[in-house]
This record gives sequence, structure tokens and C-alpha cells, in this order.
Amino acid sequence: MVKKIDHIGIAVKNLEETLNFYENILGLKSEGTEVVEEQKVKVAFLPIGDTEVELLESTEEDGPIAKYIAKNGEGVQHIAYRVDDIEKAIAEMKEKGIRMIDEKPRYGAGGARIAFCHPKSTFGVLIELCERD
Ligand code: ZN
Repeated sequence: MVKKIDHIGIAVKNLEETLNFYENILGLKSEGTEVVEEQKVKVAFLPIGDTEVELLESTEEDGPIAKYIAKNGEGVQHIAYRVDDIEKAIAEMKEKGIRMIDEKPRYGAGGARIAFCHPKSTFGVLIELCERD
């Protein structure tokens, strides 16, 4: 069902400071930032090989990333797997008894169509299914 690791999502307190580390120390290059209002985040994608690192900073105190950091601190927050057909992937997961946070695809940064699986069904990892053109 899944094709590759599309990206690794990392929750950060300060996107600018974090970008400084990823760009100037690790030598990656951001493709620019985007605010995803629905998820109350500002994100930056940094391609590496045939995958990407996604840095996520909360734009609101009650946003999911802010809540994640309050509970766990900064760090890896989710792993996104590429799928060809998000509706089909969601249906397949549900059919196999996996609990979905999103039962319908929602908008993801960069125009992706995404859906999260519940970590209680995926051995503790927040998995994002991600379809891109
Ligand atoms: Zn993501």
C-alpha cells in the first residue's frame, strides 16, 4: 500500500531558529514556508534524497503541534508514507481494523492530500498517509 517515506514531520518551537540549524549546519535547503490554517501550523519542507523533512511550528497556543510539544517536547512527531490513492488507502486501513484520525482526506502543505492514522492502532507512531500529484 505504501510506496516510500514521503517525509518525516518534526515539531519545533521556533521555525526560523530550527531552519538555521537544518540549512546552515546540515546543509539542507528549505523550499519556503507555508501556513496551513486548518492545522494551525507554519511548515517548511527540506528535500533530502528522495524524501523530505517537514518542520512544523504551531501558529496558535491551542494547535495540535503546540499541544504535542507541551506533552512531549520538540522532536519527531509523525512519519508520512506516500500512497497512490488516499481514498483507497483509508478504506483499506479501516477494513483492516486500523483506527483513523481522518476518515476523509484533508489538505496538507504543498497541495498534498493527507490522512492520519491513530497511533493507538499503529504501535505508537503517528502515521500520515500522503498522496501527491
Ligand atoms: Zn506531514
